Amino acid sequence: VIGNPQQAAESASRSTSYEDIGGLRPQLQRIREMIELPLRYPEVFEQLGIDAPKGVLLHGPPGCGKTLIARAIAHETEANFYSISGPEIIHKFYGESEAHLRKIFEEAARKGPSIIFLDEIDAIAPRRENTVGEVEKRVVAQLLALMDGLAKRQQLIVIAATNLPNLLDPALLRPGRFDREIAIPIPDRIGREEILSVHSRGMPLSADVDMRHLAAITHGFVGADLEALCR
Ligand code: ATP
Repeated sequence: VIGNPQQAAESASRSTSYEDIGGLRPQLQRIREMIELPLRYPEVFEQLGIDAPKGVLLHGPPGCGKTLIARAIAHETEANFYSISGPEIIHKFYGESEAHLRKIFEEAARKGPSIIFLDEIDAIAPRRENTVGEVEKRVVAQLLALMDGLAKRQQLIVIAATNLPNLLDPALLRPGRFDREIAIPIPDRIGREEILSVHSRGMPLSADVDMRHLAAITHGFVGADLEALCR
């Protein structure tokens, strides 16, 4: 969802909750500690004299639930949710990419607790030693400036997602930027069973459907595959 900031802001209420996520318990736990606490209780960080994290990087194969987690956290913390897609910001907003990014950050900062979700961040911030276009360079510079400019007490957290963490410009991973990384793995058997039960919730199933068996024989399926299977 992208366009002007108003369009990019999604009401978190019609999105996902933690119950919609199968598996990924330890990952969710870590992310909640990193994000919920500073968004909900910024005064705790202030009292302790610790800087709350500004950026969290989620990485892992496609369809494993990165977007899902970001949405669920925004919903559960009642934060505004802004979603930006890396490729879109480069191509669709060509010529006004940086301005667009700035607008979203400004709006999110103004509106109180907010999460900005930057999907496919590798598209805008590839390693600079690889051949990079001028637009990408300027967008990375703008993103870095915006993140460095986030005031300590601002209730704004940026969650970025990528399938290709090794291709990211290391400048993005420095302290004060995306300095927390969480790997979102392909689900194991137990995770798959949970995901199957999330997506078959409310489906009338015949007695011979055995989710446990399905989970056991779907090695390598990610959340998106299991959702398709249920459908
Ligand atoms: P991409 O890198 O392609 O953006 P992603 O990791 O962000 O992938 P999502 O968009 O979060 O993947 O997942 C796609 C869909 O697959 C979700 O809408 C959700 O329905 C389902 N899904 C993925 N992982 C899970 C999970 N752990 N539990 C329940 N559903 C899941």
